Amino acid sequence: MTRANGNGTGAPTAASASDRPVLSVRDLRTEFDTDGGTLTAVDGVSFDVHAGETVCLVGESGCGKTVTCESVTGLSTPPGRITDGTVRFHGTDLVQCSDRELRGVRGDGIAHVFQNPQGALDPVYSVGAQITEAIHIHRDVSERAARDRAVDLLDRVGIPDPSARFDEYPHEFSGGMQQRVAIAVALAADPDLLVADEPTTALDVTIQASVLSLFRELQAEREMATLFVTHDLGVVAEVADRVVVMYGGKVMERGPVGEVLSDPAHPYTRALLECLPGRGAATTGIPGDVPDPADPPRGCRFHPRCPHAVDACRTGAQPPRFEVGETAADGHGPSTHDVSCVHYDGEDTRADELRRDPGETDPPGERVAGDGGTAGGERGE
Ligand code: SF4
Repeated sequence: MTRANGNGTGAPTAASASDRPVLSVRDLRTEFDTDGGTLTAVDGVSFDVHAGETVCLVGESGCGKTVTCESVTGLSTPPGRITDGTVRFHGTDLVQCSDRELRGVRGDGIAHVFQNPQGALDPVYSVGAQITEAIHIHRDVSERAARDRAVDLLDRVGIPDPSARFDEYPHEFSGGMQQRVAIAVALAADPDLLVADEPTTALDVTIQASVLSLFRELQAEREMATLFVTHDLGVVAEVADRVVVMYGGKVMERGPVGEVLSDPAHPYTRALLECLPGRGAATTGIPGDVPDPADPPRGCRFHPRCPHAVDACRTGAQPPRFEVGETAADGHGPSTHDVSCVHYDGEDTRADELRRDPGETDPPGERVAGDGGTAGGERGE
């Protein structure tokens, strides 16, 4: 095992221009000022998302996934604030943008789909009006052209008889159909980056599967970069190209999805996999609680819950990242698999033993998407 490169991306430093990501997050730190003190919700997070690629942020509730998304899209408002790091979208650091600039970038290039479609749709306007409004904000087109495009988008996201349903209101649609409409509103801006925060969590299993399938189709069609938040490793297996495992506001493991799910290196990733249906912790979840962001443990954030913790895990800072596995060219640029754990420093022989521990069952690729895997029944963040 070698120590991961210093660029914090999991990508080699000599990446070519064609490998340049749509979104590049480096050492992001987001804090909240509260009456009880300052909470660090996101602490030194780095990852890239390339065109046509889906990167999943995964972890239990309270691990910083949603705050990371909100920081990326500029939705992190007081008392939350970004105190360090960069969020580059097509090379522009959004952290340095004014509110006005940010609104422009957010509207033109970045769209957000939330867990709850009801929150994203205005009940007093028809779905057609909401989609055409989004189109008019971003394109100088006639009312007729906007309507045609809106109907086309409704059709594309799988709304039957879209011309007839154009004038209906959100309450006339089921939950799954509302989420499809919310996706159509997001796509109306032709975003280069779609940020989807638990978009299927509130839906039943069969609807989840069809919405996930829709995400895959639309992404392939439009070559969008997608940042997808989920607590469900079954969903990760369905949609991700790469996965970023977060715990206590930090990245624990990061790499190509096939490799991370079939050969998880970090004890926390392995613990999450053990929470999948039919596995050892499916009903009990991971023993212990996620750390208090106001008072995180010293050393490795996971050490109070980790069965492999040694003295070195309990002091100092979070262990550095070490590369595990091979650097792979996966069609979205070079990708490495790295892990923040003391046992991968190249000298500790426990790494091999640790990777033979629980989690030796098959990866979740064959499961029905969204049928659990919630790390102790967590539902969203
Ligand atoms: S660094 Fe220590 S506590 Fe953290 S995951 Fe590795 S073994 Fe467990």
